[in-house]
Amino acid sequence: MSSSWSRRQGSARLCGALLALVLGTFGALSAARAGCFDVKDAQFARLRPLVSQDAKKALIVVNSLLAGLPADAARAEPRRLAALYAVQSDAYGELGLDLPSRASALKGLALLPGRTDPLRLVLVSDYGLSFREPAGIDKALTLIKRARAAQRPGSRSDICLQIVQGSMNQQRDRSDLATRELTQAYLQSGSPELVEPQMDAASLLATALRRMGDFDEALGLIGRVIRWDTARGSASNLAIDAYLQGQILRAMGHFRRALVSLRRARAISLSQGARQGVAYADLRICQSEIRLGRFPAARRDCDRAAPVFAAGKAIDMVKETHVLLARIDLADGHAARSLAILNRALSHDGRDMVAHEVPPAYLARARASAALGEYRNAYADLQQYLRLYSAHNESARVRLQEALEVRFHAKEEIERNAVLRRKLRAAALQAGRQRQLLQWIEIASIAGTLVIVLLSYILMAGRRHRRQLLHLANEDNLTGAPNRGHTAQLAAAALQNALARSQPLTVALLDFDHFKEINDQCGHAAGDYVLREFARLARGTLRATDVLGRWGGEEFLLILPDTTIGSALSSIERLRQQALGIVPPSGGRLETWPRVTFSAGLATTAEGAGTLDEIVARADAALYEAKNAGRDLVRIDGEGYRNTANGAPL
Ligand code: GH3
Ligand code: MG
Ligand code: MG
Repeated sequence: MSSSWSRRQGSARLCGALLALVLGTFGALSAARAGCFDVKDAQFARLRPLVSQDAKKALIVVNSLLAGLPADAARAEPRRLAALYAVQSDAYGELGLDLPSRASALKGLALLPGRTDPLRLVLVSDYGLSFREPAGIDKALTLIKRARAAQRPGSRSDICLQIVQGSMNQQRDRSDLATRELTQAYLQSGSPELVEPQMDAASLLATALRRMGDFDEALGLIGRVIRWDTARGSASNLAIDAYLQGQILRAMGHFRRALVSLRRARAISLSQGARQGVAYADLRICQSEIRLGRFPAARRDCDRAAPVFAAGKAIDMVKETHVLLARIDLADGHAARSLAILNRALSHDGRDMVAHEVPPAYLARARASAALGEYRNAYADLQQYLRLYSAHNESARVRLQEALEVRFHAKEEIERNAVLRRKLRAAALQAGRQRQLLQWIEIASIAGTLVIVLLSYILMAGRRHRRQLLHLANEDNLTGAPNRGHTAQLAAAALQNALARSQPLTVALLDFDHFKEINDQCGHAAGDYVLREFARLARGTLRATDVLGRWGGEEFLLILPDTTIGSALSSIERLRQQALGIVPPSGGRLETWPRVTFSAGLATTAEGAGTLDEIVARADAALYEAKNAGRDLVRIDGEGYRNTANGAPL
């Protein structure tokens, strides 16, 4: 968890200067700390509002006041000193300086013994809220509970401590416990003099409920808080609550309505000079615009937010904004740029991003890769997306279940009151709806898996198809030998290789003798059969580096790399024997089967290098001479006729 993230979680709802820091997640802590408790001490009442306006300034004022106190102030004026420590602790807390905040709270606590003293309770809360780590929070929670035990149940102090308890549970990521404490605090502060704590509880509860997916309830609550904020003219509260309303509406898929709330939050933040608040609003506005397909507007808003986050060193928020910009790029057809941005955003596998923003980033990258035809990468990212998405879903499901359980367990209390009974019915209804939602999510996950299976099938089928096409393009379909085009390619490559290595290359053109007669006497199918058989038998005879390609009709080109005339003659003799050995296909009559022979013309690079065309032309001329000389003969270019059996001149 990055530092900016945890700081944002722990900051104040009422604090104008640090307004932005709460916008991401969870606010109202110092509302519960400061405004909630009924502290009468003049020093505190005067200085505390300054913390909300400008925490740094408040700290300077308090420090100079502390420096001006006499040395025996702890004995002479313990209350006054404790009040200054409380303000100091609050100010440190607002600035995210947990340890100094805790130290000030402890100094103040040492001065005040009374167990129901509101000033002491402010210090206890400051102490409790200065922890971020689970173990520390748990320890501090014991202290809060002990402090609560000393209060009259349902009193203002009791409710304020319960709100602090809820906030700490939320901080500890126990939304179930947070919901229980905050619901009770909200329900118990129904009387007019407790409306302030009630609004603090409502705002926090709405945030917790949104996190757990209980949107309807969250929206109802925040609407109430906003009406109260508006009536009171509390601008900084209003900015946060309008933002929260926008977030809930976005989560519900009401993007147009969300935009209205978010723009309101933005305008208020702007008027207050809260740059971070404006940036958060811009980011969420950008997100909603994307969902509405308004990409140019979305780009403008995201472009505005990114530098503000960067200046505040909020890496996770910078990355979240960049992922959105990459999505806009992709929608605009700039797939390569989109991919580059996403590669940078996911450079640490999303460890420096807000956890629930990581799966959408992988999905976006899968889309960008697919748009660029990089299916293997797209597939890997899609898988990663589904893995993370289902893990996220599972934890969301568990949270939701826990939250609903907690709310059902509050049944006894709820049944004391008719309004609450209605709530129970609504909760049951909500549970049904949410179960249905979860079913849909499950179905969506399965559908996602199917997409993956389909995609990989298409991928593999595509590869198989390409292989088949390649074969079709290179292979002669009667004999399975390389066709003329491919044979020429192979021959050219062999020639280049031979010249490069100064090795001899021998080429022979073979043409069957009186092939028309085979067709005429035995039928065209028998002719086909001879060609097929000859190619098949040759494949078993020749070396892996030799090539016998079909040059056309009943003519073959034989390519023999690193072969002298002598070895070439013995290879051709073996082929000759095989041709002679071809017997008629089953059912054919041996007596009418002709003698299958061929004539061959040989040419070699040893005769002086040349192009492939020249060498083949020389072989062709030699073949022509072999035919003229009576057939069933091999003629070497530029030499006499040779007996294929022993290479001797005829
Ligand atoms: P020569 O000894 O002079 O080569 O006599 P030839 O009968 O073989 O004459 P030529 O090479 O000119 O004719 C080739 C014959 O081979 C003509 C054609 O009908 C036959 N032929 C060509 N391709 C095929 C084929 O794919 N299948 C069959 N069955 N016959 C073919
Ligand atoms: Mg022929
Ligand atoms: Mg021919």
